Amino acid sequence: MENKRYALVTGGSRGIGRAICLKLSKMGFDVVVNFKSNRMAASETLDMIKEQGGDGELLQFDVADGNAVDAALAQWEERHPDSYIETLVNNAGVREDSLLVFMQDKQWHEVIDTTLNGFFYVTRRLLKGMLTHRQGRIVNIASLSGIKGLPGQSNYSAAKAALIGATKALAQEVAPRKVTVNAVAPGFIVSDMTKDLNETSLKKLVPAGRFGKPEEVAATVAFLVSDDAAYITGEVISVNGGLYT
Ligand code: NAP
Repeated sequence: MENKRYALVTGGSRGIGRAICLKLSKMGFDVVVNFKSNRMAASETLDMIKEQGGDGELLQFDVADGNAVDAALAQWEERHPDSYIETLVNNAGVREDSLLVFMQDKQWHEVIDTTLNGFFYVTRRLLKGMLTHRQGRIVNIASLSGIKGLPGQSNYSAAKAALIGATKALAQEVAPRKVTVNAVAPGFIVSDMTKDLNETSLKKLVPAGRFGKPEEVAATVAFLVSDDAAYITGEVISVNGGLYT
């Protein structure tokens, strides 16, 4: 039996996902860095993990494609027959903002498919190992948008609100097997996803007076996957500088 502990971060190539990969690596996890298409950024994440003394591997798949998820994770299991992924961070997400009246089918489906179907495909696949070993952590990266609702984001708000609902339901299913399921709901965080936003004007809405850093989201994820958080499940923790409704 390998004694390595494995964590998978979907969308680990950039932004918040990269910061989570680096933090989990510092906690001692071997990190499986998932990405959709940006291999160069994912390799940079892996290089950074190795520079700080950790280890990990890349695993490319589209979380929205159930067959691709199953195939990639089956291959991972073949390479690690004596191990399982005990920590999963469902972080992959996309934004396709539009007022609903103008929203195209593609904008609606891409956002729902990535956040909600992605959660379903990856979590279903990895849950069996966690339940069998009676040890597991799942953290879903939701959003303030899924709590408050934001105009221009009915697709994104719907996907993130649904993710929060699934978090609460699944938490109750798997708690007896020592698997916890929580969500983290960031507000405005500096990343590629928010680079088109007007930070100067939007930060005035935030009581803390600034956008958050990916590392500040990663720190919350790290707490939730730690042993100290064993009794916290079905919870949603906001990381938003005081920006509520
Ligand atoms: P980002 O910089 O745009 O990075 C998105 C990541 O998701 C990339 O690693 C990307 O992979 C991956 N990804 C996208 N679609 C995917 C798919 N179908 N399959 C696998 N990977 C996929 O975004 P971010 O700001 O770090 O956001 C990370 C998470 O936080 C998202 O769920 C987002 O909704 C949430 N969030 C962000 C903010 C914010 O202010 N930034 C606020 C609230 C919530 P590639 O590199 O291969 O494209």
